[in-house]
Amino acid sequence: MIQIICGPCSAESEEQVLATASALVDVFAGRKDYRHIAFRAGLWKPRTRPGTFEGVGEEGLPWLQRVRSETGLKVIVEVATPAHLEAVLEAGIDMIWIGARTTANPFAVQDLADALQGVDIPVFVKNPLNPDLDLWLGAVERLEMAGVRDITVIHRGFSFYEKGRYRNQPKWQVPIDLMRRRPDLKILCDPSHISGKREYIQEISQMAMNLGFDGLFIESHISPDSALSDADQQIEPRHLARILDNIKIGSSIPEDEELTRKLQEFRARIDLLDENILEILALRMGVVDQIGEQKRRGNITILQQQRWEEILEKTSEGAAERNLDQAFVEELFKLIHMASIKRQV
Ligand code: PEP
Ligand code: MN
Repeated sequence: MIQIICGPCSAESEEQVLATASALVDVFAGRKDYRHIAFRAGLWKPRTRPGTFEGVGEEGLPWLQRVRSETGLKVIVEVATPAHLEAVLEAGIDMIWIGARTTANPFAVQDLADALQGVDIPVFVKNPLNPDLDLWLGAVERLEMAGVRDITVIHRGFSFYEKGRYRNQPKWQVPIDLMRRRPDLKILCDPSHISGKREYIQEISQMAMNLGFDGLFIESHISPDSALSDADQQIEPRHLARILDNIKIGSSIPEDEELTRKLQEFRARIDLLDENILEILALRMGVVDQIGEQKRRGNITILQQQRWEEILEKTSEGAAERNLDQAFVEELFKLIHMASIKRQV
């Protein structure tokens, strides 16, 4: 059974929260493969730039209490400080999550862990903004040492200066390594914050299922275009229903399930690596264009034989170091070099 947590990025008004929650209840009616474990809504929003919507704060707690009493759903909120935690516990909120910016800060995580001593509440820990598995696991360990027993991790991608297809790069190898080091931990994927754009949520969710994640943490808003935060990545409840309809869940594959799962995992890794190869080629061609411009200005030939020799030598050494077939690598770089020359003509 795939676990789903969904709800708006931010609680904005009582009406928005209640309308979204009730539409989401309808999305899950009669579904057998999915379990809707909680309704999410951020009250204190960690914003990159000041002057944007920072959340309604404690004012939203009674709205979530209403969601709970009117729909029977559990509710989950992000906490970043012991003061948030205190307010949330007092309001009887069912679960909490720790955001990516907080996980990255061991002082903040320790403060939360200290405040959680003796409190029995499920805690969901997002990965830190940077792809540092130890930092992520370190946050989990701080909570465990404080006695928190029910911990789930959430993979929400990593932030880089270079902009790629997604808002946050998934770097699937990191959660795959986490699963290997801590097979006991449940892991959800947050395709909303990875994608940054609603059109990519389907493919990222499918990838997470292919890799054997336990579930998804998805932002859904009753009218996403008017959302006060993360408008581009939030989806309408009926869009979420379509995504769930289209996801293929691995366990329905016959025969050797373990083998099929392994194959899927390797293929997912290969797809990701191929994407990286393309990304790097595109970056390389960008630099080639700039070099071409300089050569034109300096009126020098495109082919600089000495430089080409140097590239061949370096890449051949690099191939040997990595145990790659040197003839293959030479062929590959000849192709790349030729394409680069053509671009400069
Ligand atoms: C969120 O889930 O709304 C959020 C702020 O996420 P993250 O900490 O992953 O950026
Ligand atoms: Mn968000």
